[in-house]
Amino acid sequence: MVAISIFIFILGLAIGSFLNVCIYRIPREGLSIHSPRRSVCPECEVPIQFYDNIPVLSYLLLRGRCRNCKTKISIVYPLVELITGGLFLLMFYRFGLTLDLLRGCLFVSLLVPIAWIDARWYIIPNAIIVVGLILGLAITLSISLAQGDWGYLIKHLIAAVAGGGGMMLIAVLGSAIFRKPAMGGGDIKLMSVLGLFLGLWPDLLVVIIVSAFTGSIVGGILIARSGKKAHSPIPYGPFLVVAALLDLVWGDALWMGYLRLIGWQ
Ligand SMILES: [Zn+2]
Repeated sequence: MVAISIFIFILGLAIGSFLNVCIYRIPREGLSIHSPRRSVCPECEVPIQFYDNIPVLSYLLLRGRCRNCKTKISIVYPLVELITGGLFLLMFYRFGLTLDLLRGCLFVSLLVPIAWIDARWYIIPNAIIVVGLILGLAITLSISLAQGDWGYLIKHLIAAVAGGGGMMLIAVLGSAIFRKPAMGGGDIKLMSVLGLFLGLWPDLLVVIIVSAFTGSIVGGILIARSGKKAHSPIPYGPFLVVAALLDLVWGDALWMGYLRLIGWQ
C-alpha cells in the first residue's frame, strides 16, 4: 500500500512536470509540445539539463533559480507538480487499483492544465479539448467493456452531448439577458469533456451548482477587494475544474448534502 502510494505520487509528479511543458507552450504561439525537445530557461535560453529537471527536487536544490543566469524560476512549476501528485494520490485512495483510478488520473492530467491556462490566458485550448474527448472516449469504452455494460458508455456519451448543449443554452440565455457574452466557447466544450468523464445525473448538475456557488463567492471577494468592476471577466474554467474534481471524488456525498439542504431528503 505504502509502496504503491509512493509510486503513484512520483508518477503524478512526473506527469505534472510534463503538464508544465503543456501549460507553458500551448498558449504561446510557435512552441509545440515536442519541439524544441529540451526545455530552455525562458530568460537566458540555455537548455535545462535533465538533472535540473527533476520534479520539485530540482527547484529546491536550485533554490528556485536558473543554474546559469540565476533568474527566479516560477513557483508555478513545483506547485503544478505537487498538485498533480497530490491529486493522483487522492484518486488512488478513492478508487484503489481500478480502471476508475486511470479515469481519475487522466481527468486530473487534462483538468490541471485547463484550469491553469484559463486562469492565466482566459482561453481553453482546443488541443486539450480534443485530447480530452479522445481519452474520455477510450476510458469510457474500456470501463464499459470491463463491466460488460454498454449502458455506461451510452450514459456518458449522452452526458457529453447534453453537457455541451446545456452549457450552450446557458451561454445563449446569459448573453440575451446580460447583453454580452456570458460564457466562452471553451467552457461549452469543456462541459462536453466533463460529461464524458463524469456522466450526466446527478454529476453534471453537481458541477454546475458547485461551480456557480464557488464562482460567485470568489467573484464577490475579488470585486470587493480589488474593486474589480462587476463586468470585468473572471475565467469560469477553473471553477468548473474544481467542481468536476470534487464531483468525481465526493459526488454522491455532495448530491445528498444538496438534497438535504433544499429539503428533499
Ligand atoms: Zn537562465
